[in-house]
Amino acid sequence: MKNKKQAVVIFSGGQDSTTCLFWAKARYEEVIAISFDYGQRHKKELECAKAITEEYGIEHHTFDMSLLNQLAPNSLTRSDMEVDHDAPEEGTPNSFVDGRNMVFLTYAAIFAKQRGITDLVTGVSQSDFSGYPDCRDVFIKSLNTTLNLAMDYDFDIHTPLMWIDKEETWEMADELGVLELIHDKTLTCYNGIIGDGCGDCPSCKLRKKGYDRYMSRKMNK
Ligand code: ZN
Repeated sequence: MKNKKQAVVIFSGGQDSTTCLFWAKARYEEVIAISFDYGQRHKKELECAKAITEEYGIEHHTFDMSLLNQLAPNSLTRSDMEVDHDAPEEGTPNSFVDGRNMVFLTYAAIFAKQRGITDLVTGVSQSDFSGYPDCRDVFIKSLNTTLNLAMDYDFDIHTPLMWIDKEETWEMADELGVLELIHDKTLTCYNGIIGDGCGDCPSCKLRKKGYDRYMSRKMNK
C-alpha cells in the first residue's frame, strides 16, 4: 500500500532543509523529519533541528552516522581542518563529505519504506551546488532509480530547491510564512553561530547575500 499522505524530510536544521520541511508540511498530512549525527563540529545544528521540530510538533528522529566521519574525515567534522573558502580549481572543496547525500538518502529510504512511505524530501540545489557532485539533479534521479531497484519500491525523491538560488529560497520561506523562523532559528554557519552567523564564512556570505537581495527586492515591490 502506497502512502502518499506522508513524507520523510532529511533535516539538518539549516536554512535549506528547514525551508524544505515547511514546503513538505504545506503539502502532506504528516511530515517526519530525520537528522543524521555524523560528528559535525557543531552539535548546535542538531539542537536547532530538535528545537524546530519540537516547536511545530513534528516527529523527529536523529540517527547515528559516525561511521561516515570515520571513513571520510573532512573540514565540517575535524576542528583541525580549515574550511575551504573557495571551491578549488580541480576536485571538490574540503567541506565536501564523500557519499554523504547518497548515504543519507539511502537510510531515509530504508526508514520510509518500513512505514509504507514513498516520498522523500531533500534540500539539495544544483544552482548553489558549490562543487558538490551529489547536489546535482542527475545524481538524485540516478539514486532514485537505484533505490527503486534496490528495494523493489516506488520512491519519489522531491528536491524543491534544485533549480533555485539562495535569494529564491528566502522567497519560498516567506511564501510559506516562515521567513522569520528560518532567519532566526536555523544554523548554516561553519562557525556554529545561529541565525545571522559569523558573517565571514562562505556559508554565511552566501546566505546573507541571498537574504539581502530578497529583502531589497521585496522592499522595492
Ligand atoms: Zn559563518
